[in-house]
Parts: sequence; C-alpha cells; structure tokens
Amino acid sequence: MKCVICHGNTIEKKEVKEECLIGNDVIYVPLEVLECTTCGERYYDRNTKRYLEEIQQKVAEKKVGLKEIGKVMILAA
Ligand SMILES: [Zn+2]
Repeated sequence: MKCVICHGNTIEKKEVKEECLIGNDVIYVPLEVLECTTCGERYYDRNTKRYLEEIQQKVAEKKVGLKEIGKVMILAA
C-alpha cells in the first residue's frame, strides 16, 4: 500500500490517540491505525470508522466513562 499523499511506502500500524471533536470538547480515543511514517497521513478501515462513530454516539449519550486529562483552551483575542 502506498501513501496517496506523499507516495511513500512507509505505512505502518501504529497505536495512536485519535482526536474526536464533540462540540467544544476533545476526546482522545486510543486506536490502532495505519499511518504513513513520512507525512503522518492516517488510513482508517471501515471497522475503525464505524468504531469511532459508535464512540462519538456513546459519548453524546453519556454511555462511556471519560476521564479529564487536561483543558482545551483558545487564545484570547
Ligand atoms: Zn505519506
């Protein structure tokens, strides 16, 4: 498999923390994805996409436990 962005063939399975934005909240979902080690592009298979959608749904319905690990801030204008 070649990277569609940089055309490199350095795509490897990696443990990542996928960022999910829900409103103003950021939720990190630990995942194993294929990532290009050259440009950082991530590739998700259908199961992974479905899993992320499920998680977002569950978070919206407050069906999963979340632990606060930090704050999300924005530069004050
Ligand atoms: Zn790449």
